[in-house]
Amino acid sequence: KSTVAIVGRPNVGKSTIFNRLVGERISIVEDIPGVTRDRIYASGEWLTTTFNVIDTGGIEIGDEPLLVQMRHQAEVAIDEADVIIFMVNGRDGITGADEEVAKLLFKSNKPVVLAVNKVDNPEMREEIYEFYSLGFGEPFPISGTHGLGLGDLLDEVVRHFPEREQTEEDDETIRFSLIGRPNVGKSSLVNAMIGQERVIVSDIAGTTRDAVDTPFTKDGRDFVIIDTAGMRKKGKVYESTEKYSIMRALRAIERSDVVLALIDAETGIIEQDKKIAGYAHEAGKAVVIVVNKWDTVESNEKAMKEFEQKVRAHFQYLDYAPIVFLSAKTKKRIHTLLPKVLQSSENHAKRVQTNVLNEVIMDALAMNPTPTVKGQRLKVFYAAQVSVKPPTFVVFVNEPELMHFTYERFLENRIRDAFGFEGTPIKIYARKRN
Ligand code: GDP
Repeated sequence: KSTVAIVGRPNVGKSTIFNRLVGERISIVEDIPGVTRDRIYASGEWLTTTFNVIDTGGIEIGDEPLLVQMRHQAEVAIDEADVIIFMVNGRDGITGADEEVAKLLFKSNKPVVLAVNKVDNPEMREEIYEFYSLGFGEPFPISGTHGLGLGDLLDEVVRHFPEREQTEEDDETIRFSLIGRPNVGKSSLVNAMIGQERVIVSDIAGTTRDAVDTPFTKDGRDFVIIDTAGMRKKGKVYESTEKYSIMRALRAIERSDVVLALIDAETGIIEQDKKIAGYAHEAGKAVVIVVNKWDTVESNEKAMKEFEQKVRAHFQYLDYAPIVFLSAKTKKRIHTLLPKVLQSSENHAKRVQTNVLNEVIMDALAMNPTPTVKGQRLKVFYAAQVSVKPPTFVVFVNEPELMHFTYERFLENRIRDAFGFEGTPIKIYARKRN
């Protein structure tokens, strides 16, 4: 997926446009405790293209002066985006701050599309020509509040998306990333797995490191580690902001088949762990929970069982995720990890046979009668798997509103038991049969 960043000085309307581009998707947030969605990074859609959008205005850094803020925004955009939307305010004309932003963007080699916002009526379209002087070609008049001009703007943005290699999506390579709060041991685990000190590990939280997607082969399978731990470049203040690191993690998650959610056995589970793991769940990726630093705990069956119970209690929405206990430092039990990654990835991509699926559904219906709401009983006709990654099922019914959450959950569990979907979320939608 390509990424678009919206850049511009405060109050030109970046967030309004951001919400217009991604709004509908954000409103489908599941109400799961511990899961929050960050509003600076989200997925948008135009015609047949989906893309990511960054609202750089959401990356605030204390009360730095305006120009410093603008520089940070521009850096984020230049680093992260394939195409940059440079937004100005059509009512104000060109300001000094606009010119500063223009200078920064000019130096990058990224395509920049100039959007002139707050052009709410056609007469104003005559007045936008002065913006040619910013040096980014044709200015596109838009109105965030009225939703005007966005189609033309997006046509232009999409036109600049790089051609993607076809192979990324279809090959057999298993891509996985490691997420977790600072010092949970992400870099250490990457090193332990690929067996070389490629990433510099330090005791200082937030040490500067390099990021690489590292391919390796194990037992005839190709893997790629997407390393979220080490992506800081020197001297960029914005990279120390929490929102920025979340954004980085989200990008890594998105490119992954499997996400390893790391927990520190030494310090135990904290609120931040839940939030971070929630992102993986929300993204519909396969998830393996990794309890690292197991060497610091007196490790016996009983301790493991107890810790497992704690994990299950804190991460209820991840009940499908296997838990692996290991030590990145001593490498103990580390060999148990990749088999779980592999299994979760295979389940994530699994397609089941329609006839077997329907047998499972019919058995489930016989076992547990469908709910009745206001005298009307839910009727389930048949089910089909409509996609993978994650496995997604449509259940055709007489009336979707009768499909109660608990009954859906029951069907999900039957499907899980029948086909073995350990490690992957599955989705079920009830649809009206016509
Ligand atoms: P990151 O910020 O998540 O990448 O964490 P690092 O990999 O930089 O590790 C942070 C600190 O935890 C370092 O001092 C590591 O040596 C230490 N550490 C990492 N894994 C383990 C482990 O399995 N056991 C112990 N005892 N310490 C670990």
